[in-house]
Amino acid sequence: MTRTRTNPAQPITPGAAARYWRATRARDPRADGTFVLAVRSTHIYCRPSCPARRPLRRNVTFFRTREEAERQGYRPCLRCRPNEISGPVGLVQRAVDLLAQSTDESLRLRQLAQTLGATQSTLRRAFLQVTGLKPRELAEALRLKRFKALMRAGKSITDALYETGYGSSSRVYERSNAQLGMTPATYRKGGLGMKLGYTIAKSPLGKVLVAATERGVSAVYLGDDESKLVAELGEEYPRAEIAAASNGFERWVKEVLSRVEGQPPHFELPLDLQATAFQRRVWKELQRIPRGRTRTYAQVARSLGQPKAVRAVARACATNPVSIVVPCHRVIREDGALAGYRWGLSRKEQLLASERSAT
Ligand SMILES: [Zn+2]
Repeated sequence: MTRTRTNPAQPITPGAAARYWRATRARDPRADGTFVLAVRSTHIYCRPSCPARRPLRRNVTFFRTREEAERQGYRPCLRCRPNEISGPVGLVQRAVDLLAQSTDESLRLRQLAQTLGATQSTLRRAFLQVTGLKPRELAEALRLKRFKALMRAGKSITDALYETGYGSSSRVYERSNAQLGMTPATYRKGGLGMKLGYTIAKSPLGKVLVAATERGVSAVYLGDDESKLVAELGEEYPRAEIAAASNGFERWVKEVLSRVEGQPPHFELPLDLQATAFQRRVWKELQRIPRGRTRTYAQVARSLGQPKAVRAVARACATNPVSIVVPCHRVIREDGALAGYRWGLSRKEQLLASERSAT
C-alpha cells in the first residue's frame, strides 16, 4: 500500500507542472485528487476543477497532496473544498451513505446521481473502480448486510424485512437465494439452522470431502486427514447442523470425483454457497476457463472488466469453498508459476495434468 503513495520528497518536474497547469486551465475534474494548486498571493489552495477565476500562472505552486499545501501554510478554498474527500472514493462514500439510510427499495441510479450531482456513467464507473461492484449490486449487498445484522440481533424475519425496506418476503428469498445461496430462515450466523451432510471419498488426489445441503454443494475439500477436513467444514459453517451422510447427493459426489480425475463435466452441479457479489462473479468467471487450461489473476480481473482488481481476484480464489467445481486450480501467477493452492501445490499440478491428459 505504502509503495503506491506518492513520495512527497519527490519534486514536481517541469513537465508535470505543465500538465497540471493545462488541467487547471481546463478545470478538468479528472485531475481532482492527483494534485492541488496553491496560490501564493492569497495563500489558498484549490482542486484543479475549482470554478473560481484562474490565478496567474506565476502565482501558482503545485502540490501532490493537500497535506503538503497545508504544511506550507495554505488554507483550503471555500468554493471547491479541496480538503474534503473527492474523486471516485468521495463520490462512492456519499452514495453509500445515501444508500445506507434509504429504506426505499427502488432507489434508482438516476436519482442517486442527481442527488450527488454526478452523471450516471461517472457514478457507475466510480462504483466499479472503488468497490468492484455495480451500484445495484452494492445497494443489494448493503441491504442484505443490514438484514443479516437484524437477524443476528434476534429480530423476526418479518421485522428484519420491514426494517430493511424489502417489499415482500418472497423477494428477499429470491435474492438471498441468488446472492447468499441460503434462505433467510437458515441464514443465521455461521449457517445456524442449515443442515449439511458430508461424505468423504477416496480419489487419486487423496481424500475428498463433499458437503451439501438439499439445495446444492457447499464444500469440496481435498486432503489426507479426514478429521482435519471435517474440522475445516465446522470452521466454515460453525453453527450448521453437520452430519456424516450423503443421502440424496451421491450423484453429486460421483460427479465431483469424476472431475477430480480430470473428466469433463456431465451436468451442472448446483451450489449452495455464502458469497459476496464480487466473489460470485469471480467464481463464475473461473468456471469459464476450459479444462486443463490456465489464466493468470490479471487475465481474470481483465475479463471481469476490472483490470485493477488483481488482488481481490486472488483473494476470491483463495476463499473458494468448492474446489474442483469452481476450478480455482486453473488460475496461476503472472510469471507462469502455479502460485498457491489451499489444498497444496502438488494437487494443483496433478489436477491440471490429469485434465490435460483427459482432454
Ligand atoms: Zn477553489
